[in-house]
Amino acid sequence: MTAGPVPVYFAGPIGVCDLCQRPLAGEAGFGDVEVPGTGGAWGLLCLPCCAGAAWGWGFGQRYERQDGCGWVLVEGGPPA
Ligand SMILES: [Zn+2]
Repeated sequence: MTAGPVPVYFAGPIGVCDLCQRPLAGEAGFGDVEVPGTGGAWGLLCLPCCAGAAWGWGFGQRYERQDGCGWVLVEGGPPA
C-alpha cells in the first residue's frame, strides 16, 4: 500500500449518456465533459462519445467503475 492522492469519487447520480442516451450504469466509465454541439453545456457522456475529448481540470474529467466503490476519477482532476 503506497500513500498517494486520495481518490475522488463521482458523488452525483448517473443516468444516461447525454449524447447517445446509453445507460451509463452498464459502462466501464464515463466523462463529465462539455457536450459537443451544445455551446457550453456540461453533461455525462459514455466513453465512446468522449472519443477525442481533452481531459483536464476545466475541460473534462474521466471516471472509471471501481467495483464496490462507485466511480473513481482517473483523468482530469484538480491540480495538486
Ligand atoms: Zn454516448
